[in-house]
Order: sequence, then structure tokens, then C-alpha cells
Amino acid sequence: MSADNGIYILHTKDGYRVTHAQAIENIEWQPDESGFNLRTLYNYFRDSVCYKSKKEASDRAVELYEEEISGPCGIVEYGISFIEATHIEFPSEQPSCCKNPLRTSTDGQVQCYNCGEYLDE
Ligand SMILES: [Zn+2]
Repeated sequence: MSADNGIYILHTKDGYRVTHAQAIENIEWQPDESGFNLRTLYNYFRDSVCYKSKKEASDRAVELYEEEISGPCGIVEYGISFIEATHIEFPSEQPSCCKNPLRTSTDGQVQCYNCGEYLDE
């Protein structure tokens, strides 16, 4: 089984955010015009401090890397990567749903397959 995890540094207009995540490709699943799925991006990075410098963000990434390596999982498959998104602002609150919701219906309720949001139809 693959860990499919990495430490990611997201660079947006306002600074840098750092997270440990699995399946990072989800941030580009069903993107809007920004090239990202902003709701997923928000969910992945919202718990991070916003660092103003690349140096601070990199230091935090190394710290997280070492925590993961010495943790129960013991592996960081993709190491540390930068995600350049300097054309966007990090959302200030959770976007209500993806710009292109993928409707799926279960038990009579319509839900977005991408983000899990329930949609009123
Ligand atoms: Zn959605």
C-alpha cells in the first residue's frame, strides 16, 4: 500500500501555508477558473499559519517532515513540495461548494461528489 503523502507548501498572494496531506491531487479535481478546487484547497490548508517568508514556511515544512518520519506512519512518500498559486488569494472562509459541483444522488439527497456538500435542488 502506498502512503501517498507529502509535506506541501502552498504559495498564494498573501503568503505561504504548510500542511501534511494525502492525495494532494484532489486540490485540482474539478477545478474552477483558478485551476484549483478552492474548497478542497481550503480544507487542506486552513489549519496552517500563514507565513510571510519562504524561509519560515520551509522551516515549518522540515519540522512537519520530521514529525511524520518519526510518527507511526514513518514515511513521507513525496517529500516536501511547493505548490505555486500566486495568482490566487487563499479563501478567507470555506467556499460553500466547488465552482463546478458534481451532483450525485444518494437516498434522495443531492450531494456534491467532490466536496461532500449537500445541494438544494
Ligand atoms: Zn462541491
